[in-house]
Amino acid sequence: MATRTLPKTDVVIVGGGWTGLTAAYELAHAGQRCVVLERGQNRHTATSFAGPEEHDELKYALRHGHMQDLKKETLTFRNNRDQQALPMRRLGSFLPGTGLGGAGIHWNGQIWRPLPSDLEMRSHYEDRYGSQFIPDDLTIQDWGVTYDELEPHLDFFERICGAAGYAGNLNGETRAGGNVFEGQRSADYPNPAMKQPISNTLFGKAAEKLGYNPFPMPSANVTQAYENPYGAQLHPCTYCGFCERFGCGYFAKADPIICVYDRIKDHDNFEIRFEAQVLRVEKSEDGQTATGVTYLGEDGVEVFQPADTVCLNAYGLWNVHLMLVSDLGKPYDPATRTGVVGRNYAYQTVAAVDAFFDSDVITNPFMGAGALGVVVDDFNGDNFDHAELGFLGGGYIACKQYNGRPISYQPTPEGTPAWGGDWKRAVRENYNHHGDLVIHGSSVSTHENYLDLDPTWTDAYGRPLLRMTFNFPDNDRKMGDYVMNRAVEIAQEMDNVTSVSSVNMAAKGKDYSIVPYQTTHNAGGAVMGTDPTTSVVNRFGQMWDHHNVFVFGACLFPQNPGYNPTGPLMGLAYWTLDHMKTDYLSNPRPLMDA
Ligand SMILES: Cc1cc2nc3c(=O)[nH]c(=O)nc-3n(C[C@H](O)[C@H](O)[C@H](O)COP(=O)(O)OP(=O)(O)OC[C@H]3O[C@@H](n4cnc5c(N)ncnc54)[C@H](O)[C@@H]3O)c2cc1C
Ligand code: SF4
Repeated sequence: MATRTLPKTDVVIVGGGWTGLTAAYELAHAGQRCVVLERGQNRHTATSFAGPEEHDELKYALRHGHMQDLKKETLTFRNNRDQQALPMRRLGSFLPGTGLGGAGIHWNGQIWRPLPSDLEMRSHYEDRYGSQFIPDDLTIQDWGVTYDELEPHLDFFERICGAAGYAGNLNGETRAGGNVFEGQRSADYPNPAMKQPISNTLFGKAAEKLGYNPFPMPSANVTQAYENPYGAQLHPCTYCGFCERFGCGYFAKADPIICVYDRIKDHDNFEIRFEAQVLRVEKSEDGQTATGVTYLGEDGVEVFQPADTVCLNAYGLWNVHLMLVSDLGKPYDPATRTGVVGRNYAYQTVAAVDAFFDSDVITNPFMGAGALGVVVDDFNGDNFDHAELGFLGGGYIACKQYNGRPISYQPTPEGTPAWGGDWKRAVRENYNHHGDLVIHGSSVSTHENYLDLDPTWTDAYGRPLLRMTFNFPDNDRKMGDYVMNRAVEIAQEMDNVTSVSSVNMAAKGKDYSIVPYQTTHNAGGAVMGTDPTTSVVNRFGQMWDHHNVFVFGACLFPQNPGYNPTGPLMGLAYWTLDHMKTDYLSNPRPLMDA
């Protein structure tokens, strides 16, 4: 029982990242009194992320200064149901955020849209390849929302971020130099694409020679002075190389503090409480609706915040955890394959290719940015013929220059010893002559990859930890190899390249590990859809079982497309908020029949 009960608010929002602050902005302007509860601390782009202090690689990139404190809250992990899951005591494979702005502070700023076929994955593959094409062990499904429905919302988020790029499909007209595979855009990017360094340029030339379609990576590292639709001012990127894992004190990387929070913080309908750890969502006596949330305040006292509407914006994994500890929705049981909360957890399938140049190519890797890359999308989604390949999905191949930081950036060719004099020599000889390619691939959902509550371990608040059961599906291992081999071919075609090496994180025989960083793109677990037996929320992000609970984030994805998630999940956030404002709030009820 909470010790203190506060006056009721219209909307309580759990989490102050991209999705939470955006929900508060939109709903406060729609006349709703919004209370945001953020477990982390207050901070500000202008004062908290300024160089040179912010450019401390040890503190922020390696010791995870901006990220979640695992001593309070973590998860347990295992590869399959036969194993005993153990707590994740150090951050590694993914780096969830905490504090104002969430992980939107230390993200890279790669801002993507899904392909139209990504959103209708099951029906698309069945239509193109026949109903037998999808193996029985895959639980991929359609999202319940189409690209055309999401397009205005994807476009709006790009304008909020001042996205930089070059449209490949403008109002149905295909344009060379952009992503010719993308869905139709109603407008070009608000800002021109980033300037590319030599390695990325050579990659683009080689890809073109092989008949592919290179284009600049869409970027929320802004390229010129820009004012977003909320009135936020962004400045041009300096290519300082301290994007990923760091905040941007230059106001050049779009983040939720400058783009959203500063524009809403003084609104009468907006309130945010920091160090407010939400412990559970409370339900009405009949169990049909939520009545608010209970949180632990900074004084250590449990507080009940009643609300008409509850928005879960705590990051995908923690949204699922809150549902499970609050008994919201039916938990997924892999033995019977029934239930939905925790079902279809998916990740991202990553591989890397290193290209080493001769001494004529000087790359200056210390000049970089989180979304500085040249990309080919020819092997992403269903942009290529899968008929004879034995897998679904794909990934984009990017040559990128994010940073050349001293501790982590030490590329050496295959065969170099891992330490000692020869290693040092190889680092010195190759630091300035390296092309960095990544394969960023999709992750299909299966019956055996899921989230539930751990029967053994608890967090600092006495709640069972979230348990993650995950290994790479065979489908994704094959897909990763196939796309990686295409990337190797491009690397070998690049001018002045002397050697190429590659590694597939999902190679056959290699179990998924939570130790090396891969991506913070945890998806699924509270998926959207049109069938309550296979989805937690309906196509509007509203829980089937509790109509006044709305869910945001990548937990909604029924499987993970090949792209980074923030563009798609923010498109979905604006879609949900639009339906809340225009349809739900004036007449609260289920927006779809179960
Ligand atoms: C290093 C890194 C690089 C990335 N780069 C990219 C990229 O280039 N492109 C891309 O698309 N995506 C990228 N991402 C992913 C991106 O950061 C996330 O998709 C995005 O931040 C999700 O927004 P969110 O609002 O769902 O969650 P978050 O940003 O995680 O915000 C959730 C907030 O909720 C708070 N919270 C959680 N639980 C509770 C609770 N119980 N009570 C109160 N508050 C709570 C957290 O403290 C946090 O502030 C990257 C992530 C990382 C870590
Ligand atoms: S590279 Fe650009 S966007 Fe990234 S932190 Fe530096 S100035 Fe900011």
